[in-house]
Amino acid sequence: MGFIVGIDGTAGSGKGTVTKNIANKLKLVNIDTGSTYRCVALAALRANAINNGIIDEQKVIDLLDKILIEIENTPNGDKVFLNGEDVTRRIREKDVTQVVSPVSSIKEVRYKMVEFQRKMAEGKDVIMEGRDICTYVFPNADVKIYLDATEEERARRRLLEMQEKGMQITYEEVLDNIRKRDYNDKIKEIGALKLAPDSIVIDTTNLTIEQVEEKIVKIINEKRK
Ligand code: C5P
Repeated sequence: MGFIVGIDGTAGSGKGTVTKNIANKLKLVNIDTGSTYRCVALAALRANAINNGIIDEQKVIDLLDKILIEIENTPNGDKVFLNGEDVTRRIREKDVTQVVSPVSSIKEVRYKMVEFQRKMAEGKDVIMEGRDICTYVFPNADVKIYLDATEEERARRRLLEMQEKGMQITYEEVLDNIRKRDYNDKIKEIGALKLAPDSIVIDTTNLTIEQVEEKIVKIINEKRK
């Protein structure tokens, strides 16, 4: 098995940016596990397996064998493909973000995605971000990090990110989504967001991206010596 860095944390805690930058810096393969669940959520929306927020679980489960997800690492970030179509941007939109947490709570979805995530990491030196990396996907990861920040700061960051992409959304909507996702992510039966006893916690509320990266790079380099 290669060297594994697991980065778990709440929505908007900085996982995505930090993971991408550290992967570039340290030549690690970047695996964003959230995008795998986002692909399933998008496929479910397109197959009308979700209507007015109500999920037809069996329909989603039946879709799993028809979904091919591919993630391509590029220096400018990941490209995500769903059945050959580039959905990198599409899976970040509001409708997908609203349903991804309940979709990812379906047991069968988790088993399939976790199998896929482990396969992607096979034999490679990776940095993997998500919610259950250090507790479930790779409980024996070489480095385990848990990122968090206040709800308000996380909502502020997400709002900026979405506005930069030209998406129409208000601060209140983002905050509300973050609260709902956090709640749902923490009470999941399998793969809930929780702190592994041996994870190092970094509160990013008052830190810059560079400061967070510096801390994590230092921890990784110590471990790799
Ligand atoms: O990280 P991101 O915000 O893209 O993740 C989207 C959603 O996917 C999360 O809110 C969570 O519900 C789910 N997820 C998960 N387990 C992971 C990564 C993401 O359940 N390892």
